[in-house]
Amino acid sequence: MLEKFERYPLTFGPTPIEKLPRLSEALGDKVEIYAKREDCNSGLAFGGNKVRKLEYIVPDAIASGADTLVSIGGVQSNHTRQVAAVAAKIGMKCRLVQESWVPFEDAVYDRVGNILMSRVMGAQSEIVPDGFDIGIRESWERTLQAVRDEGGKPYGIPAGASVHKYGGLGFVGFAEEVRAQEAEMGIKFDYVIVCTVTGSTHAGMLVGFAKDGRANKVIGIDASGTIDQTRNQVMEIARNTADLVELGREITLDDLTLIPDYAYPAYGIPSAETNDAIRLAARNEGMMTDPVYEGKSMQGMIDLIRKDYFPAGSKVLYAHLGGVPAINAYSYIYRNG
Ligand SMILES: *Cc1c(COP(=O)(O)O)cnc(C)c1O
Repeated sequence: MLEKFERYPLTFGPTPIEKLPRLSEALGDKVEIYAKREDCNSGLAFGGNKVRKLEYIVPDAIASGADTLVSIGGVQSNHTRQVAAVAAKIGMKCRLVQESWVPFEDAVYDRVGNILMSRVMGAQSEIVPDGFDIGIRESWERTLQAVRDEGGKPYGIPAGASVHKYGGLGFVGFAEEVRAQEAEMGIKFDYVIVCTVTGSTHAGMLVGFAKDGRANKVIGIDASGTIDQTRNQVMEIARNTADLVELGREITLDDLTLIPDYAYPAYGIPSAETNDAIRLAARNEGMMTDPVYEGKSMQGMIDLIRKDYFPAGSKVLYAHLGGVPAINAYSYIYRNG
């Protein structure tokens, strides 16, 4: 579906799919759980889902003649860390707007994890007081203008690399990759679990899996806590991406499965159940997840398995999108494990 688009390689190649037998057993062996390890997809500063998206955005950035990538996220944004790494890799400068998306006060919240790495990689990072919002922000527009005023040529990448014309393509590629791996493994996944916030990961998967009738088997676990905005953004990106790849049919709300039940108490704040889920995956599989994103999709998957949402024997593919560096900013929660 992606032959006509230019891709700038930033990942190691197809990401591994591994079985999680001990986690499956801990949940009563009702389903078979597998993980696709997007968290191990690249050597660029711990990688993650934004690197897969950026492979289809970087050719446009280079063609534009830009010298500076400008992006935006929360203080502990995985996305901005991945943009900083990509900028270093392709020899551009990087300006990051880090908004105060998360009302969490660990003593070292703005010193460790993602923001630490962005700084070490040479990105100029500015912390601003604005709260959580997945849309296009004024602070980002201001920084784009600041780069122009200084004589630079900025290339803007919106939050999560989502509301960008090519933002959905990377995860169309994910679906194609899963299809090829299924053929190799001789199995077929019944469900894919994905954490959804700015929307292009889910939207891309939805379009990619629409090709073989599985769009609504992609189970989005919302971690934004702003479900209407996230739903609208996923649908808009999915429709645009379907046009772009000439899917040949309309994307409708029937294609979307987005579950709002696990985002509480707020974006970036883990509930007790999120933390239990993080510990269960860590203690049974040595697989780390984070308190902002993957801990919530892990919590969602575990709860849905316990509630028999999936028919017995289903093969469930957990898309591990990365994000573990942020756990360093939550040190107090995990001081005893
Ligand atoms: C950005 C991110 C997500 C959410 O992906 P979107 O495309 O923004 O919906 C999930 N998990 C991790 C680790 C992320 O960094």
